Amino acid sequence: MSDRSDVVIVGAGQGGAQAAMSLRQQKFEGTITLVGEEPDAPYERPALSKEYLAGEKPFEKMLLRPTAAWSEHGVELRLGQRVTEVDAAAHRVRLEDGSDIAYGTLIWATGGAPRRLACSGHDLRRVHTVRSRGDVDRLRDELSSTTSVVVVGGGYIGLESAAVLVKLGKRVTIVEAQDRVLSRVAAERTARFFEAEHKRHGVDVRLSTKVACIEERDGAATGVRIESGEVLPAEMVIVGIGITPTVAPLISAGAQTALDGVVVDLHGKTSLADVYAIGDAAAHRNIHAHGALVRLESIQNANDQATVVAKNITGKTERYESIPWFWSNQWDLRLQTVGLSQSHDATVLRGNPATRHFSLVYFREGKVIALDCVNAMKDYIQGKALIASNRTFDPSVIARAEIELKTLL
Ligand code: FAD
Repeated sequence: MSDRSDVVIVGAGQGGAQAAMSLRQQKFEGTITLVGEEPDAPYERPALSKEYLAGEKPFEKMLLRPTAAWSEHGVELRLGQRVTEVDAAAHRVRLEDGSDIAYGTLIWATGGAPRRLACSGHDLRRVHTVRSRGDVDRLRDELSSTTSVVVVGGGYIGLESAAVLVKLGKRVTIVEAQDRVLSRVAAERTARFFEAEHKRHGVDVRLSTKVACIEERDGAATGVRIESGEVLPAEMVIVGIGITPTVAPLISAGAQTALDGVVVDLHGKTSLADVYAIGDAAAHRNIHAHGALVRLESIQNANDQATVVAKNITGKTERYESIPWFWSNQWDLRLQTVGLSQSHDATVLRGNPATRHFSLVYFREGKVIALDCVNAMKDYIQGKALIASNRTFDPSVIARAEIELKTLL
């Protein structure tokens, strides 16, 4: 059986949903089919490791649009169906059930799959990842019979999950292979602050610690053995060690790849004719990273790339040049990061971390390139303007928290 749709979007998550709606906002009148592997209509993932895990937000409130909105906007949802093949020459995707959908334009928005541990025990019962509603539902079902949890990975998802689980009364250990938490995304100062916060709340934070294997009884995890030989007892293990973009069908179709994802240009186009890619799965040269290839995993990136792609498909030439931003909630702390800090050559602290209200400002050659703002909304908003200005600033002035950043422009 073969259908045809003017635009086929593969991946009914953040980017896919935004692309469909942006196409309609751009007055696109063709047919749109949104194919998603998960059984649910598109929903926001950030709550999964925050309010949804905590049981504070019902799933219905996480839906990106009311269910009826999709048909009202003429978007055909095909849920619970995975695309397994792309025939770029024939402009056709194949679904798991063997059926085909022909496309005029394809948007690939599949995000990524959680990385698994490579050691023995990685696939036991009571070993979880936090990527989908299904993941968190399975995990939550086991919480009442759990007192101790080992979280492997001290990135955003690991730290957020740890904070929620402590609030739910669990004993939590974080095992992190690097010598600090948040090592991929934040400088030492920010990382040490969050490490101290977790310790203050009773989390056992093990840095520079590698997992040797997961111990088991009757097929269920009972603890994590670390490389020193010590076993950290746990009735539940949560693995938050990053994702691998789900791009195998595009790679088989011949798309150019980098950073495990599919390479796109500033308009979101892949190397395949009429195929775009967005969100976690797409690697692009980012002007805020001095043109380096990056693959960003954030709501802002998925949404803004989707909007740019929708504009290009409808004939407006638009480049993806937004300043990246990201947030994380842990305890009563809201971390908001704006810009990309990876290439910084200096940092300056504004405010005092002891007050739990401060910003770390990242510089490169005298220009502000990023800020980590902790409970510091004003710095976050005004700091974005400093980044956009592309001007140099005196770090000693930026360090004076009593001076509002906007007055420096
Ligand atoms: P996704 O939203 O992951 O959507 C991809 C969809 O494609 C999925 O439903 C997947 O099942 C489906 N799919 C995959 N392969 C196929 C296939 N072959 N066929 C059909 N469908 C397929 N970002 C922030 O900015 N702030 C946060 O606080 C934050 N917190 C997060 C917390 C958690 C627990 C997680 C998991 C992510 C969080 N993120 C956060 C990241 C953010 O959610 C992602 O960057 C964003 O969802 C990426 O959008 P996407 O469209 O690329 O992928």
